[in-house]
Amino acid sequence: MSARDRVLVAGAGIAGLATAAALRHTGFDVTLYERAADGTGAAGSALGLHPAAVLALRSLGADAPVIEAAEEVHRWELLAWSGERIGGWPQTKVSESFGAPSITVPRAPLHRALRMALPSGDIRQGATVAGYRETADGVEILLADGTRDRGRLLIGADGLHSAVRRQMHGDTPPRPARFTAWRAISDLAPDDKGVPTARQVIGAGATFGHWPLPGGRTYWVATLADEVQEAAGLTVRGGPPAHTPKDHAVLADVFRTAPPRAAQLIGATAPAQVIRTPILDRPPLAGWSTARTLLVGDAAHPMVPTTGQGGGQALLDAVAVAAVLRGADLGDHHELAGRLHTFEEQRFPVATAAAQAAWHLGQLHHERDRAQVARRDRRFQDTTEAEWLARLGVGQAPDVPSRSAR
Ligand SMILES: Cc1cc2nc3c(=O)[nH]c(=O)nc-3n(C[C@H](O)[C@H](O)[C@H](O)COP(=O)(O)OP(=O)(O)OC[C@H]3O[C@@H](n4cnc5c(N)ncnc54)[C@H](O)[C@@H]3O)c2cc1C
Repeated sequence: MSARDRVLVAGAGIAGLATAAALRHTGFDVTLYERAADGTGAAGSALGLHPAAVLALRSLGADAPVIEAAEEVHRWELLAWSGERIGGWPQTKVSESFGAPSITVPRAPLHRALRMALPSGDIRQGATVAGYRETADGVEILLADGTRDRGRLLIGADGLHSAVRRQMHGDTPPRPARFTAWRAISDLAPDDKGVPTARQVIGAGATFGHWPLPGGRTYWVATLADEVQEAAGLTVRGGPPAHTPKDHAVLADVFRTAPPRAAQLIGATAPAQVIRTPILDRPPLAGWSTARTLLVGDAAHPMVPTTGQGGGQALLDAVAVAAVLRGADLGDHHELAGRLHTFEEQRFPVATAAAQAAWHLGQLHHERDRAQVARRDRRFQDTTEAEWLARLGVGQAPDVPSRSAR
């Protein structure tokens, strides 16, 4: 395979690293361009991965180190502000049916495991992709420092504010979900009576979720609707994710009346450890590919974090890209376009449904009207385990090729 047969990947987040690793395993030559000058690019403390995502990691040969750094979740519970249980399921049953666990893992070991699948020369740090130009037999990318590079295919894995998406679809602003998330890892152990439990409390315009981590630590995420922030004297703001002492005081105050663990976890976390993120997504795009360029991960289908699926969907993209490109002649314009189209046919309905479910649930979780909140909580209480799994799209094993089948 000549240098011209290279695949160029913009962005070394979960989507870019996993896609590059999957394509490498499939025999392609890959170069990753990452804007950050160094580091793992693993911003965001921790995340939960559903069994489907763990199957995707297994397909990449990266599941073992990730599981080693993770805590398995055995039970999932949704609580009303009163502490009453209004939803949930025994996660172990779902995990058994998938043949893979549901886990919570700090982001750094996940990124490390994905990086380990790549030779270090494959990643160019401090390289910002500014644009691209497709020709009949290749694609040329322009980097922010003015240099250019060529390959056969460009994969835009450069996240919510993707430059590749911008060139493909125009410069449209993301859609504010009208709530902000604050997340951190606390040294306080979860209060789960020995059954590792993911628990989420939903109230009126405020939610608090916490997940077990190894070593008796806990990953937590608090969210507040814009109106709740304003009523508490916070200025609703976009921009860089700076968490202020005032944010911390407001969180402590709002969650004081929530079931016990919320206020304790916030109180046990130093403000400097907390990451603040105004939540955004984008409505579904008309498509994710042109002849020699493809979007994956948040660049293609950003979703609000309510169902904890964005990273998992990025992993599923990676495995699917490698499966559809296996054996492809990347020089053949028509063949490549057809294969990219197949990828979209497979992944577009799944990822779009996940994004839409997350948006819908995110809005429902941040309902503020007391009567509506009571109705919502009663409806949740009447929801069966099977309906929960279907609603979150995490109950059915996806078609992930096994490592030996790749
Ligand atoms: C509060 C919160 C909680 C979440 N919880 C979960 C969870 O529990 N489970 C889950 O699965 N998902 C979760 N997610 C979603 C998950 O974080 C994202 O879906 C995932 O990180 C997307 O990965 P990505 O690689 O597509 O994009 P990103 O993580 O945004 O990575 C993009 C990469 O591209 C680089 N880049 C950007 N522009 C350029 C450029 N022009 N040139 C070169 N490089 C560039 C960036 O530096 C970055 O490294 C959560 C998100 C939030 C906000």
